[in-house]
Amino acid sequence: MIDLLVAGEVMTAVRCDGPLRLGGSATVSVVGAEAGVAIGAARLGHSTALGGRVGADESGALVRRTLAAEQVALDAVVTDPEATTGLVLFERRTPDLTRVEYHRRGSAGSRWGPADLAPALALRPRAVHLSGVTAALSESCRAACAELARRARLLGAVVSFDLNHRPALWPGDVAGPELAALAGLADVVIGSPEEFDLIGAADPAGLLAGVPGEVVVKNGAHGATSHDADGTRHQPALRVRAVDPVGAGDAFCAGWLSALLDGADRTERLRRAVTVGAFAVTARGDWEGLPRRDELSLLGLPDGAVVR
Ligand code: ADP
Repeated sequence: MIDLLVAGEVMTAVRCDGPLRLGGSATVSVVGAEAGVAIGAARLGHSTALGGRVGADESGALVRRTLAAEQVALDAVVTDPEATTGLVLFERRTPDLTRVEYHRRGSAGSRWGPADLAPALALRPRAVHLSGVTAALSESCRAACAELARRARLLGAVVSFDLNHRPALWPGDVAGPELAALAGLADVVIGSPEEFDLIGAADPAGLLAGVPGEVVVKNGAHGATSHDADGTRHQPALRVRAVDPVGAGDAFCAGWLSALLDGADRTERLRRAVTVGAFAVTARGDWEGLPRRDELSLLGLPDGAVVR
């Protein structure tokens, strides 16, 4: 049995210092919403596995090596010999503007499907986390998300679903009904106010009439709000110096899941979620700044504190 299975596509990221077409130096790392959630949970001490596909290429090897170094188990990652690992190119066009170019259509990750679920379910995860990014990749990915949610719940796992709409991958009118269907299979649905609007739940608490037992609205520097049968609870964001907003939502999910796996109550789940979300915005990169468990209290220290 493991604590958490996170399913989705992890890609290689190439970050160029200037315009891509001029060449020059770049740094290489791995990205993907689900990688952030998995690494975040593993750093907090939970046995965590990734489910998905990578290519039989050097990018796939980088993804495997990075996740393994972060203590994320790879038993449920299938190597696809017929497709390449997804790639994202970032170019810093001006100091304040980064352009992103995705090369993930037909990637190994987008070919993940229901036939790949056996090793994931064999891990008997206590919780399963899925996101709308995976649902956007292909029909087989959507089918795998739905099947995994259904089968994991039958095995007693808690299923969380982050709506995570990516307009670059699919327009809102196509994504809305698909995301709504997947949200209806999850115990916990997490998203932004705009994403709840997109799935026809302008009042997110309305989803509690179906399967979800808790609905969590994340709202950037305004913090987050949870709705369940006992009512509504709000948790303000921590006040930090934000340098990079990317990855905050995934970090938030990692914190929320970590507290859930610890058996913490709703207030503590929200608290840990906003704490880990705040860590993400204080550092560049999607997941690099995520805290270990013994670092969770660091953001409460006064500005300029030196920890010896
Ligand atoms: P997403 O990255 O999915 O758009 P949000 O921007 O809503 O998600 O961020 C998720 C959570 O991270 C927020 O609910 C909040 O707790 C935390 N967070 C985001 N931005 C900040 C910020 N500027 N300062 C402190 N915490 C933040």
